[in-house]
Amino acid sequence: MTANPTTPWFPADEILIGGQWLATADRLPLIDPSTGREAGAIGRGGAAEIDAAVAAAREALSGAWGRLTAAERGRLMLRLSGLILERAEDLARIEAGDVGKPLSQARADARAMARYFEFYGGAADKLMGETIPFQQGYTVWTLREPHGVTAHIVPWNYPMQILGRSVGAALAMGNACVVKPAEDACLTALALGRLAEAAGFPAGAINIVTGLGAEAGAALASHPGIDHISFTGSVGTGRAIQAAAAQNVIPVTLELGGKSPQIVFADADLDAALPSLVTSGIQNAGQTCSCGARILVERGAYDEVVARLSQRYRALTAGPAMADLDLGPIISARQKSAIEGWLARGSDLELAGEGTIAADAPEGGFYVPPRLLAGAAPDHVLAREEIFGPVQVVIPFEGEEEAAAIANGTDYGLVAGVWTRDFGRMMRMSRKLRAGQVFLNNYGAAGGVELPFGGVGKSGHGREKGFEALYGFSTLKTVAAWHG
Ligand code: NAD
Repeated sequence: MTANPTTPWFPADEILIGGQWLATADRLPLIDPSTGREAGAIGRGGAAEIDAAVAAAREALSGAWGRLTAAERGRLMLRLSGLILERAEDLARIEAGDVGKPLSQARADARAMARYFEFYGGAADKLMGETIPFQQGYTVWTLREPHGVTAHIVPWNYPMQILGRSVGAALAMGNACVVKPAEDACLTALALGRLAEAAGFPAGAINIVTGLGAEAGAALASHPGIDHISFTGSVGTGRAIQAAAAQNVIPVTLELGGKSPQIVFADADLDAALPSLVTSGIQNAGQTCSCGARILVERGAYDEVVARLSQRYRALTAGPAMADLDLGPIISARQKSAIEGWLARGSDLELAGEGTIAADAPEGGFYVPPRLLAGAAPDHVLAREEIFGPVQVVIPFEGEEEAAAIANGTDYGLVAGVWTRDFGRMMRMSRKLRAGQVFLNNYGAAGGVELPFGGVGKSGHGREKGFEALYGFSTLKTVAAWHG
């Protein structure tokens, strides 16, 4: 463990290109969200660094990395997974300091990143092509091949998990990666680069360029040398990335968040549902793409659910990441004021529950107390738009039809939760809901590394996680042999 537990054990202002750790001409300040104070600096890569990183990845494909067998790639990934677990506590502390998430949540993220490399390392040599029955005289088969150079533009909310899920699947299929972490949260990505080096990954298999979205991010998304983009973040940036990908005619996976409903029927086991309802809204201070931001409650249980949720909300506390309370700070002053802007538009809603900020939380930290807003009409702006903060709205409904209509009534469709004891209703609702994942009597399935994940509508397209992601991070070649 490091002397100052949130300080990285490596220089944070170097970027990784072709196996070399390099300084950049300019640097960007790092802000600790728990205090609002400057806590170091990172490299400010731009178009030149992205150019070099893409070239290094291309070289890796025709060099040592490209020559590895699938089993050898898998073994390297398993070694990396082991190294992540060995340094999990260091990684968690670095992440907590950098992103502001409570330490135990950062620990879970470190373990999840290790699990992604374990899962995809194990899968590397298990995705096979097919033979296809065809005309007399032919033998036809398919080959799964890497796209080539894959670009990974990562957000700040779950840096370790999102990096693990997209880089893990890409490496398993033999791609060479260029990663652009978020400027607000890139220390654990740089740590992963150090660990990959120690695991023995050949130079250029993983390249990491820190910098601003408008500079390094935009240069990567529009680079003619990349073959695929994986992006998680906002709808606006997703749109720009898809437009850039269109110019180069390359595939893109977009995961753009949502306004996910948790639907509670009157017959639900409320003791089981209530903790999950709250956790899904306040985990990582609500800065979660699959945040259970809308709680839909059947009228028969509405008063009881709101009363019990209010009670829970009053017991919630936000404070510094290392204090490991219910919530940490918001990632940045900018994001905090965006949340406050949304809240100002909800002054007509009933403030049914509110948490507190710890008395000893540093003055300059970006704290927002969690809030429960009740009685929202389904078309209220706070019931439709993603806030990306610790705010949940409660909406009453009557019956399955109305529940599904409200749940499906936003532009998004990432995740939905249904709480009921009625099996038939579970099955009907799972069919009716417009979402990439539906959870019945649970929500989130503990992160679900193995479970395909992604959205419909403005939540994006393509699937990350699980075996399914391996199809997205590879391309299919059909070979037809005529032999008479
Ligand atoms: P963002 O989408 O702008 O940033 C995400 C990533 O994209 C970062 O790495 C950023 O550097 C990069 N980026 C930004 N502009 C780019 C560009 N023009 N070209 C290429 N890359 C670019 O998100 P943000 O501004 O940090 O957050 C704003 C909102 O985005 C949040 O309030 C939230 O609604 C949403 N968000 C969603 C998720 C999610 O998990 N779906 C994650 C983070 C943010």
